[in-house]
Amino acid sequence: MYQDPPQLQNQWRDDRTLRALLRRTLPRDVLHDVEPSLDRMGALAAGELYELAVAHRLDEPVHVPFDAWGRRIDEVRLNPAWREYARVAAREGLVATGYERQHGAFSRLHQFALVYLFDRSSQVYTCPLAMTDGCARTLELLGPAAVRERVLPRLLSRDPDTVWTSGQWMTERIGGSDVGLSETVARNEDGVWRLYGTKWFTSAVTSQVALTLARPEGNGPGGKGLALFFVEARDAAGRLQRITVDRLKEKLGTKLLPTAELTLDGTLAIPLAGLSNGVRQIATMLNLTRTWNAVCSAASLRRGLALARDYARRRFAFGMMLSEKPLHLDTLSVLAAEQEAALQLAFYAVTLLGREEAGELDDAGHATLRLLQPIAKLTTARMAVDGASEAIEAFGGAGYLEDSGLAELMRDTHVLSIWEGTTNVLAVEAARAIRRADALKPFLAQVTAHAGLARHPLLTAPAHAARAAAEHAASFWSDAVRRGPVLFEAELRRFSLTLGRSLALALLVAQAQWALDEEGDARSAAAARRFAASGVDLLQDAPQPAAASRALALDEPLSPFETDEGVEK
Ligand SMILES: Cc1cc2nc3c(=O)[nH]c(=O)nc-3n(C[C@H](O)[C@H](O)[C@H](O)COP(=O)(O)OP(=O)(O)OC[C@H]3O[C@@H](n4cnc5c(N)ncnc54)[C@H](O)[C@@H]3O)c2cc1C
Repeated sequence: MYQDPPQLQNQWRDDRTLRALLRRTLPRDVLHDVEPSLDRMGALAAGELYELAVAHRLDEPVHVPFDAWGRRIDEVRLNPAWREYARVAAREGLVATGYERQHGAFSRLHQFALVYLFDRSSQVYTCPLAMTDGCARTLELLGPAAVRERVLPRLLSRDPDTVWTSGQWMTERIGGSDVGLSETVARNEDGVWRLYGTKWFTSAVTSQVALTLARPEGNGPGGKGLALFFVEARDAAGRLQRITVDRLKEKLGTKLLPTAELTLDGTLAIPLAGLSNGVRQIATMLNLTRTWNAVCSAASLRRGLALARDYARRRFAFGMMLSEKPLHLDTLSVLAAEQEAALQLAFYAVTLLGREEAGELDDAGHATLRLLQPIAKLTTARMAVDGASEAIEAFGGAGYLEDSGLAELMRDTHVLSIWEGTTNVLAVEAARAIRRADALKPFLAQVTAHAGLARHPLLTAPAHAARAAAEHAASFWSDAVRRGPVLFEAELRRFSLTLGRSLALALLVAQAQWALDEEGDARSAAAARRFAASGVDLLQDAPQPAAASRALALDEPLSPFETDEGVEK
């Protein structure tokens, strides 16, 4: 007797949640127009691309620093699957669709639905694509005409032979989150800018261009003293220009994605938006890559679930199939609720992005989006990491095996809560967005509005849970002064996750009401109820004293009276 491996079906046809979301959010004629491309991608993701990923799962990128005659060449050789992903991505317009804007504000929904289907069958080729999207939007908004006109058509090309991708070189040895510490220097030499320094994590090192940060000589410290630069990394023959690849990173996951350490030694660069405030200027790129991250987090949950569902119908244990075991079904139902909620949250960020680019957002909409981008990224990434752990357990021992392909899902997913801002760093950024853009009120208004669409009795409890969590978050924020800065900051992660989970639940409620009304389908309602029961409001009214947190975190001495100091006066 042998165990049957799980099988993937066409990932578009098989995904009720994505299909229903697009039926609700896209006009009928737009859905009709875009559906063939989604169907094609769904078939590729379950077939050719998935098979390539499995066949080349061990063929990691190789760095060849020198040729046989000792010349420095710094070639990074990629596997054939990776090259095919590049071709499919260009041909299917995984970046271009968002810029051709054939369907106005809905173009981003079309684009990201393609991305969602493609991601988990692409060995994380979505990483260079995300950065390419971020670079394209930055150039569209900030690029000098000469750069824009020459480079944008390349980034947005559907021709696999001429398309370019972009990197994003921010992290240095001294700082990834705190990029204000960056040490790379920009010097004006004979009227052109040249960069000198080390970039410590550069994924997609084979890209032709990059956006990066450097400090023009004489500028002050911090993020304000940095400038945003555009780099054309390669010459016409594809050789790196005054850039050395020091080595490729040896990583836990995303092993087929080439991530390198680079030394820039006089690399030509063009400032994009003046010679300061680079950290603020690169925000456009980060907002895009964080949106990609949220969509890929939802995609990761979806892939784990699709495989686990299929396997439950194949695996026999204790006298019946796993698909008949109440406890296994309960476990999968939690995963399904998380997947549907993550999908709703990620695609709401996509919806607002499309509307912003189409000039359809008012001030409240802009403010909501500024807060939603970090919130959606951090919330869905944590959901994906937890979900990947549950998903591999659903296969028992096979889930732990490299050659089952499942371990890779677990390892790759872990990066989603680290790059583009860790959970805590984004929680701090969310607080900044609330202060700068006065974003909390409009954000919470969206929770109330979506939860308020509930009319069916099945949705009363989840709608109430979403609203109650949102109100709790509002009172936490207005209580900031009484808590004091330390206890306030210490709670920001739970605060941000509460914002994310309450909006995700409210969106799920709205989707569920629509599905009940339009299609007589109660599965999204069941997901909303399950999600509400899994914890939405994570805030604590009686926070742990700061001294206790410190002592626990660092295992330092703690006296009994310090454990009971309560909220700071
Ligand atoms: C596979 C991979 C590929 C990558 N590719 C790229 C790339 O292409 N380009 C690029 O620029 N970077 C890239 N990175 C780097 C990545 O973006 C950074 O590692 C990430 O932003 C975290 O920065 P750090 O490593 O400096 O961690 P740190 O900032 O040192 O974080 C360490 C810990 O401190 C916490 N922390 C930090 N600040 C705070 C705070 N204010 N409050 C509370 N907690 C805090 C963090 O949450 C984290 O838990 C990549 C990383 C990986 C793993």
